[in-house]
Amino acid sequence: MAVGIHTEGTLTTPLWNTTLGGASPNSLDHPVTETPAAPAAKEPPIRAILAPVTPLQQNCTIVWCTKTMKAAIIDPGGEVPKLMQALKQYGLTLEKIWITHGHLDHAGGTAAIKDLTGAPIEGPHPDDQFWIDQIPESGARYGIPDAQGFTPDRWLGDGDVVTLGETQFEVIHCPGHTPGHVIFFHRESRFAQVGDVLFKGSIGRTDFPRGNHQQLLDSITLKLWPLGDDVAFVPGHGPMSTFGAERRSNPFVADVVLGAGADEAPDLAGDTVPKRYM
Ligand SMILES: [Zn+2]
Ligand SMILES: [Zn+2]
Repeated sequence: MAVGIHTEGTLTTPLWNTTLGGASPNSLDHPVTETPAAPAAKEPPIRAILAPVTPLQQNCTIVWCTKTMKAAIIDPGGEVPKLMQALKQYGLTLEKIWITHGHLDHAGGTAAIKDLTGAPIEGPHPDDQFWIDQIPESGARYGIPDAQGFTPDRWLGDGDVVTLGETQFEVIHCPGHTPGHVIFFHRESRFAQVGDVLFKGSIGRTDFPRGNHQQLLDSITLKLWPLGDDVAFVPGHGPMSTFGAERRSNPFVADVVLGAGADEAPDLAGDTVPKRYM
């Protein structure tokens, strides 16, 4: 099944303008001005828009169940008024706030949105509590003074299921970038929101406290890859990709890089060092 994902001109700097997972990957059929009011026969179970937030341009995602128009905001790092306006613009009722991990740029606006809407906070895994506790301090450092900490209504763990309207997402614990990082996977749509685990052409940083490079590689190869090459993912920063494309060409985790000995591994990165995000 397709997931209709598009950016909206007034909301975002478009990162791409294609609808992934559908019959046509061509942007011409799905201009960025596409609205949720698509023909009923083609309506996918979920739709999503990206709204990059904070100076770190974190990919906050608003995803919704098309049957009920109930929405979840994944990783509301900040710019809360913009996110609230997007909900209104698309006629959505916020049902859930989902958090991949406790970093400021992903979770800094969480408390404010809960205050405004009452929607419960689900995630991340409890091992990220120490990051959530640091949000106010990091907010001050990064020039986001209204960022607040919070306590999730529900901590998440590997194998958990979270519901949204009449559909559901699977939760997979993917530590390495942070110890409590989780990702959200919609199996039917072949869609995942992976936060800072994996990017198009890069992987998350592991130089923070309790980061672990090998653990991150294991999360990617043992937990993400088995979901399928056809899975399209929204990373925490930058453009979307698919697991299959990353297995072919990601300079950190492509099959040919991890499978070959260090001496033989091709230099897929070329001359530039891919950026690894916080
Ligand atoms: Zn992060
Ligand atoms: Zn990030």
